[in-house]
Amino acid sequence: MNENHLTDDELAGVVVGAPSRRASDHLASCESCRTEESRMRSELKGFSEEYARQGERPEVFWAKQRAAVHARIERRRTVLWRLTWSTAAAATIMLGYLHFRSPASQPAPVVQDADQALLLDVERSLRRPVPAALEPAMILAAEIDRMASIEQVNEKGETQ
Ligand SMILES: [Zn+2]
Repeated sequence: MNENHLTDDELAGVVVGAPSRRASDHLASCESCRTEESRMRSELKGFSEEYARQGERPEVFWAKQRAAVHARIERRRTVLWRLTWSTAAAATIMLGYLHFRSPASQPAPVVQDADQALLLDVERSLRRPVPAALEPAMILAAEIDRMASIEQVNEKGETQ
């Protein structure tokens, strides 16, 4: 009688309340399959409890979502206000600047400093060692330079 234990499908049929005739007959006489049946029932119970918990989640989820959306709208409103105010402030400062600006108070030194800084930067980058990948290009450039200087010398020789 115990040679053919119930398959998972047959056990599932028992658990969901639709056992086949063979399954019913087998369960009546097989301790092992009854144990398996109760194990499957408790597993299924666990699943359905978990499923119920997850079913509750959406309410919480949507409540949080609503709160987040409201918070975002509030924040956007605040940002818009700030933007409006800062634009107004900038316009006021600009107008003030244009109104009170006199030729004597032009910020020429600042511009000079910026130029100086740029020059220093360029100088620094020129002194920087050339990356290995650019060395062939440097050789080529040196070669072109050399050729150019030879040509210049030749031209000078011709004109002299
Ligand atoms: Zn069995």
